[in-house]
Amino acid sequence: MKPKVYVTRKLPSKRAMDLLFKYLDVDLREEEVPPSKEEMIAHLEDKDALLCLLTDRVDAETIRSAPKLKVISTYSVGFDHIDVEEATARGIYVTNTPGVLTEAVADLTWALILAITRRIVEADRCVRTPGCWRIGWAPDFMLGMELNGKTLGVIGLGRIGTAVARRAKGFGMSIIYYDVIRREDLEKELGVKYVPLKELLKEADVVSIHVPLTKETYHMIKEEELRLMKSTAYLVNTARGAVIDTNALVKALKEGWIRGAALDVFEQEPLPADHPLTKLKNVVLVPHIGSATYETRAKMADMAVDNLLSVLAGKRPPNLVNPEVLKIRPLEKVKMIELKE
Ligand code: NAD
Repeated sequence: MKPKVYVTRKLPSKRAMDLLFKYLDVDLREEEVPPSKEEMIAHLEDKDALLCLLTDRVDAETIRSAPKLKVISTYSVGFDHIDVEEATARGIYVTNTPGVLTEAVADLTWALILAITRRIVEADRCVRTPGCWRIGWAPDFMLGMELNGKTLGVIGLGRIGTAVARRAKGFGMSIIYYDVIRREDLEKELGVKYVPLKELLKEADVVSIHVPLTKETYHMIKEEELRLMKSTAYLVNTARGAVIDTNALVKALKEGWIRGAALDVFEQEPLPADHPLTKLKNVVLVPHIGSATYETRAKMADMAVDNLLSVLAGKRPPNLVNPEVLKIRPLEKVKMIELKE
């Protein structure tokens, strides 16, 4: 009998889907909206594996109600939607898809930096609005901030933060960063400078967030931090919405503590169309599309499936989030399939 897997969404790679069906008994969810908690619990009751998206909450209660579960493979690098502690305690392997989406997210971050500092979205709207573009060219029309010579502040110099910093060199920016881990290798290679968070917020002209969402980073940027930023600075977030206190950000943007913000991620997703953020001119808002390229999404699918099948084959998966689990339930106790090369 094949191991049973619950796949919450069809993935955009034929290779990945073919492999799933070759080795596993697949319960594939056809709907677009994420499953409810009740649905997750009902489907996981007899499953050995779960392949989920970042929109699917896998909390402690859900994990506890899946007695046979051995692996949770998420189709994302972020794993804040999974209770990893509970999974580890129960000997469940958790895997993610790091690296393959780094360049796509760094590109989007730069699209946002350019869009907000040069008012691209506002300018596009103006061209389309009768009466807005009245004079062909004017010395003071639609002015934005020049990036050359300015300072980029990267919060979280991991894979994506580093890729964003690399691109900043091409724009002639100085780069400062804050991270819990000092990256002396990158300080040398890229000429980036470590500063404490408060200093970063005071000095940077563009602040870009690249930390994972954890207990420590939840509302890392709230009123106090926003008030430290320059009134001419911009805040960009392509990490997770809850790293910023949204209410404080709305206040900062309305009252001019900062000049603008560009956001790919939100505390509430989808962001309601009538949310206070949508009423502001000095924001650029995009719907969580950081990794949304054809190339990246296919690579993520392959990686998520390879991770999942590795665990069921009793092999250490390439991208294991919770290596402590190896001691709690060794791989030979998880093994259910033999992979053919
Ligand atoms: P990473 O693990 O390589 O980098 C994260 C960095 O943050 C690390 O250097 C880490 O030391 C640092 N960090 C962790 N906790 C910190 C804290 N409390 N204070 C300061 N620094 C801290 O991860 P990555 O691959 O660069 O991805 C970063 C995040 O981006 C992911 O966790 C995910 O939430 C988000 N992401 C978003 C999208 C999107 O579609 N917008 C796509 C991919 C990833």
